[in-house]
Amino acid sequence: MDKIEILMALGENNRERSKVDPKKQLGPIYREIRDLKSAILAAEKQLNHMAREYQEKKEELDQLLLDVPKWTADIAKAKERMIRQRGLSLKDMLEIQQEVAKAEENQLLGEAKAIDLQNKLAAYTKEKSIAQARIKELKAQFNQRATIYNQEKAKADLQMASFAAKEEELMEGLDPETAALYQDAIRSNPDNPVVILEKDICGGCRIGLSKHMVKLVNHGDKLICCENCMRILLPSHKGAKE
Ligand SMILES: [Zn+2]
Repeated sequence: MDKIEILMALGENNRERSKVDPKKQLGPIYREIRDLKSAILAAEKQLNHMAREYQEKKEELDQLLLDVPKWTADIAKAKERMIRQRGLSLKDMLEIQQEVAKAEENQLLGEAKAIDLQNKLAAYTKEKSIAQARIKELKAQFNQRATIYNQEKAKADLQMASFAAKEEELMEGLDPETAALYQDAIRSNPDNPVVILEKDICGGCRIGLSKHMVKLVNHGDKLICCENCMRILLPSHKGAKE
């Protein structure tokens, strides 16, 4: 292989490598994983919030359930006083009746509130199991995607390593000057550092070249780089043979 052939092989190797670029290939699945992760965090935050609300309502209900027997006892006591103590003044009777009425009202309100709280707690329990199921589903999706990502990444890394090995092997056949030129070209054009002159146009950036430049490239004595894009320009007759 002469240096032109080696450069052409290097150019081809780079073009093939650019097709399996892991960043481009794995971008969509990476973004999917990232979105799943934030969905899981949001759902977990919501679940924690729900658990706190549940706890508050539960404590409220427990307190209420402690109060209900107290009110029941108050009512019974007041009623007993009314029965036992006959001959009470009208004023005392009214007072006791008011006490009973108030205790009964408290009891009714308390019972209604307890029912309301119980309903709310039941609703929270249901919401909680829905949220937990959703988190479980999201985590399963996350794990599945992460497994695919890791497999694809390992595959891409392996491919990249094989392109790098081929590049290294090819570059061993180049003289230091040509190798340096190639390094410069690849720095600015990692996907296709070596292009073929198409009549008088650079095959990379498509800029028109001067007659003098075209002559130099086609002569093939010295390697010429496009002054615009820094790619190495190879003569078209060499390319036609390939
Ligand atoms: Zn160019």
